[in-house]
Amino acid sequence: MNILIVDDSSDSRLLVKSHLTAAGYIGLVMAASAREAFHLLGMDGVTDVDPVIGLILMDITMPGLDGVEACRRIKATAQLQDIPIIMVTGHHDNENLKLAFAAGANDYITKPLNKVELLARVRSALALHRETDQRKRANAELVEKNHELQQVSLAKTQILSTATHDLKTPLTSIIGYTDRLLLRQAMVGQLNERQQRYVEAISESSHMLRILIDDLLDVSSIEAGELDVAFTNLDVAQQIEAVILGMQTHFEAKRIRVVLDVPSGLCPIYAVAVRFIQVCTNLLSIACKYSPVGATVTITAKEEGEFVQIDVSDTGIGISEADQSKLFTKFFRADNSATRTESGTGLGLFIVKQLIQTHGGVIWVHSEKGIGSTFSFTLPRADVDNAQRNTPIEPNSTVKG
Ligand code: ADP
Repeated sequence: MNILIVDDSSDSRLLVKSHLTAAGYIGLVMAASAREAFHLLGMDGVTDVDPVIGLILMDITMPGLDGVEACRRIKATAQLQDIPIIMVTGHHDNENLKLAFAAGANDYITKPLNKVELLARVRSALALHRETDQRKRANAELVEKNHELQQVSLAKTQILSTATHDLKTPLTSIIGYTDRLLLRQAMVGQLNERQQRYVEAISESSHMLRILIDDLLDVSSIEAGELDVAFTNLDVAQQIEAVILGMQTHFEAKRIRVVLDVPSGLCPIYAVAVRFIQVCTNLLSIACKYSPVGATVTITAKEEGEFVQIDVSDTGIGISEADQSKLFTKFFRADNSATRTESGTGLGLFIVKQLIQTHGGVIWVHSEKGIGSTFSFTLPRADVDNAQRNTPIEPNSTVKG
């Protein structure tokens, strides 16, 4: 890096030059005035702005434009503002020195020059410049890398969304026709026992595939920030009762008892109806999936500050502490016999967490292995003005989603 020495006195310039040359510095450029310095730096529009200069030693007292004004103009030039400037000043020039620091000067040295001091200040200013330069370059690289990653992630989301969307159409007809073969045998013809088994297997697999595709489509809408915005006031008990009713066959198959305990007069929530139903369906579905036959699942709700808190508790297999921290991440499934026998995508809780967060709520879990789990989440109360809403309540929990 070059060093620019700006001084109207040729003796002073030569003295600085000889000290620096003796210390092994090369690339010393001289200017006898501020104007000449501007020209060398490319600030006069005649040449290109030249940030190859790594340090400027600037005399304060010069005829015409003085060192303070020169310093101010250099620091106001975007391409040059990182170049350290050491002001060279007389002993009793405190007033000018103050002005120079206000103009952006980095350091100063007094005349008559002390060689050791000059070299120490030059060394540290150059080191500072090198460091700033490296940090700026690293930051720029980071910004560029982040931008690239964002582009890649967006492209991935788009591909995922298109692919899954295109998979849905043929799958809908597979499901439609297998359902007909199974349910309309009087019309389409009786299946023999083996055909029945095969078609049932096709039906089960295609339903699982549909759940996976729906989950993936949800993930891509969440990641693209394209969730529905139809917020309304919802009665918690009414909505959850409808969900339970819709899942009745699910519960009956495992003889699960479902208890809904919502106090009358609970404040409605402000949420997107389909998404609230999706959250409740998901949490009830996992409570049922990971509970033994004949277990009980309890849903309670209460007002908590500006939110309504809903708890879904089961008396199922529970979740180890290590697994609790991974529960809300994409594709996580605990490694146990229940997950090996129960079908699932590992996307359910990830989606649930994202949906709750887009409502301004939080989700967390409290679980003990072999005892059961409680998933708790908050959603905004409908009677609180959104503009006045504080951040979600801090849950008293083990693991937050
Ligand atoms: P999955 O589709 O696998 O059910 P989820 O995202 O809903 O995916 O859940 C992730 C994992 O968390 C499950 O695979 C299971 O291991 C564990 N898990 C979720 N809910 C419960 C629960 N109520 N009891 C025990 N384990 C659970």
